[in-house]
Amino acid sequence: MNGNTGAIARQRHYVALRDADREVCRQAWSIGYGDPGFTTQSGTPPEPSPDHRATSLSRAVADAKWIHRGACLACPWEGPDRPRRDAAIEDAHDHTHPEWRQLPILHRLPENKALRRYMESTYPEGWFDAGGPLRLYAEPPFDRHKAGAAPGGGFILYTARRKPAPSRDLQLTLE
Ligand SMILES: [Zn+2]
Repeated sequence: MNGNTGAIARQRHYVALRDADREVCRQAWSIGYGDPGFTTQSGTPPEPSPDHRATSLSRAVADAKWIHRGACLACPWEGPDRPRRDAAIEDAHDHTHPEWRQLPILHRLPENKALRRYMESTYPEGWFDAGGPLRLYAEPPFDRHKAGAAPGGGFILYTARRKPAPSRDLQLTLE
């Protein structure tokens, strides 16, 4: 790790490349579209966050493919290369909020009092104010992790709800 890695340094470099060849720009790491700290190439790069905050980086590789890495808005940390952005976002939360994998997964946004009470009693105190993620179940393909959607502006991290195995009756009708 040095001054050239991490979301802030990568995004600054990406913005500085704005007059470079399009392919050079595509192959440079930059903050993922719509993820925390994202700016267009003609925008102003983000300022470092005082606390570790999760985001993603992406860049084009061969065969019209993209690769992704988890990254942090406060420090030079970067995760391993991932073919999917959501896996990179999860790596980033292992860095910023390592307890997230132990937290309960809610079935929907806590829009009523009972669910809110449940969320507040099962998530650590101050969790959301520290940019912590909320875990929800979702049906694929609507399970793309959503930036800025948790109560304190952190991510909603989705877990794919497994479809029940088709019953024998249903299989018979399909045959
Ligand atoms: Zn960090």
